[in-house]
Amino acid sequence: MTVEAKDEGAASGPSFSARKAQMFPQLSSAQIQRLEAHGTRRPITTGEILAQPGDRNRPMLVVLSGSIEVVQTGMSGEVPIVVHTAGSFTGEMSTLQGIGSLVRSRVREEGEVLVITEDRLRTIIQTDAELSELFMRAFILRRVSLIASQAGDVILLGSSHSAGTLRIQQFLTRNSFPFVNLDVNTDAAVQTLLERFHIKSDEVPVVLCRGEVVLKNPSNEEVAACLGMNQEIDDDRVRDVIVVGAGPSGLAAAVYAASEGLDVLVLETGTPGGQAGSSSKIENYLGFPTGISGLALAARARVQAQKFGAEIRTAYTAMKLNCAERPYAVELCHGNAVRARSIIIATGAEYRRLTLENATRFIGTGIYYAATATEARRCEMKDVIIVGGGNSAGQAAVYLAGRCHHVHLLVRSKGLADTMSHYLIRRIAESSNITLHANTEITSLQGGEQLERVVWRTAPENVLETHEIGHVFLMTGAVPSTRWLKGCIALNDKGFVRTGSDLTAVDLPSASELAARMPQSFETNRPGIFAVGDVRYGSVKRVAAAVGEGSACVQQVHQALHG
Ligand SMILES: Cc1cc2nc3c(=O)[nH]c(=O)nc-3n(C[C@H](O)[C@H](O)[C@H](O)COP(=O)(O)OP(=O)(O)OC[C@H]3O[C@@H](n4cnc5c(N)ncnc54)[C@H](O)[C@@H]3O)c2cc1C
Repeated sequence: MTVEAKDEGAASGPSFSARKAQMFPQLSSAQIQRLEAHGTRRPITTGEILAQPGDRNRPMLVVLSGSIEVVQTGMSGEVPIVVHTAGSFTGEMSTLQGIGSLVRSRVREEGEVLVITEDRLRTIIQTDAELSELFMRAFILRRVSLIASQAGDVILLGSSHSAGTLRIQQFLTRNSFPFVNLDVNTDAAVQTLLERFHIKSDEVPVVLCRGEVVLKNPSNEEVAACLGMNQEIDDDRVRDVIVVGAGPSGLAAAVYAASEGLDVLVLETGTPGGQAGSSSKIENYLGFPTGISGLALAARARVQAQKFGAEIRTAYTAMKLNCAERPYAVELCHGNAVRARSIIIATGAEYRRLTLENATRFIGTGIYYAATATEARRCEMKDVIIVGGGNSAGQAAVYLAGRCHHVHLLVRSKGLADTMSHYLIRRIAESSNITLHANTEITSLQGGEQLERVVWRTAPENVLETHEIGHVFLMTGAVPSTRWLKGCIALNDKGFVRTGSDLTAVDLPSASELAARMPQSFETNRPGIFAVGDVRYGSVKRVAAAVGEGSACVQQVHQALHG
């Protein structure tokens, strides 16, 4: 499909046609005049490439005259997206984030543009309410459309029977990264691609990055690096605050700290969203009466933090905290370290694994720790088991009942009343395809490459039943992610971080700064190091509580930095 230059801000393809006016708005002359103060003019010549997929730190270009065409590159050539003419502007979320471009931009007709660097763009977004709303809305809608188009030059060749495939699907989806998903089990075209890139069938999943680099069963870190998802880290720079963990508490801390002018770096081992990101629908978070998926909440919070200038690195694991010297240093999985005058620990918790002998073998091939659309696709119209009696299990049961044939909810206790919210218990009771199995636990998992059947035992008779069910969702409580803090931060006997009045005299040696003044409520046994959200001993394990702690803690960071 060709897009005519005369069609101002035209966008092609079904995913770009909806909400076109908001996605590709025309700036008024008054708005362009305001932007002039932030940019520099430069001529553009026909055929000039202004951005290639993967290019980082690209400026936003406001077209003053001439035109720029934007295309998505894929295995079968270019797909036109839009032609920007006078009054229109380039960019989407990656422009604001300073990370790799998803599209190619090329000059169609010579003319002139106003070049606005990433820094200046952020200044505009923080100071000009009207333009901020216009740019943010356009950037978000453009990214959403790129994802919905299910096109592009990032291709995942995987199998619905492979754990590695699920991991990369989750990683790309949770990072709002558009990709083409091809399944070797169902798509005949995949064989051609495998041959073209000399890939053996036992080497899947494979990620084809921009038609050039072939990654065989890559780690999340390798995928992030190949796709330019992260900016380089400047490890000479001492930050005001490093937030470790980008769940609700860490993202809230990042939004408040960055919006109050602090220099903030956020490190996230997986993808932003944390546990909440694995929830299909959060219904008790204030302001969302019809509920919001954890992924959508995380995506909004991430954009909000970046709008204020917080730098977020995904697939960056904090391996160790060095707190002997100040500024404090966080050692990274990449081998280097980053330093800051204060640290916010927001590493939350991760789901307890089943202690059964072969449980690890089936992770991603029948055992799942999240119940979102990505996992649900694997068990559509099949029977599934959910283990757990808390709200996360209840939500998963209600969600999967709408996608699967039958849901078996297994709890070790005699019922749900003590552990689950009333509204979920009622919905479960009213669902004809959810069966609650009280006093029941799994005793064996069986299968080859895939989980094929499950044996469970019901007390008090200890009756054993075998079921041909290949999908088990584990929602059985969480353990704190604090291994990286060992030897540095005071933890309780279960590994949660102790803060404020929960710290004892043993934790605060008499010579220490904190022995002289009482630690603040979120402060650990180290001055200027705070803990918020699920990782903190005594916290309420809820999204709203985590968000509240993350935002309130920033006040205490100011105290620590400026006394
Ligand atoms: C399926 C599910 C459904 C839920 N539904 C609800 C609900 O409906 N309502 C509600 O109020 N609560 C709900 N919860 C609970 C809620 O999600 C948590 O209380 C909340 O996410 C805690 O936020 P957090 O930021 O403290 O920690 P987490 O969400 O656990 O986030 C911690 C983050 O830190 C990262 N991290 C860990 N270690 C490292 C490291 N070494 N380096 C870098 N990063 C690291 C993790 O990858 C993670 O992203 C649900 C939980 C689950 C699992």
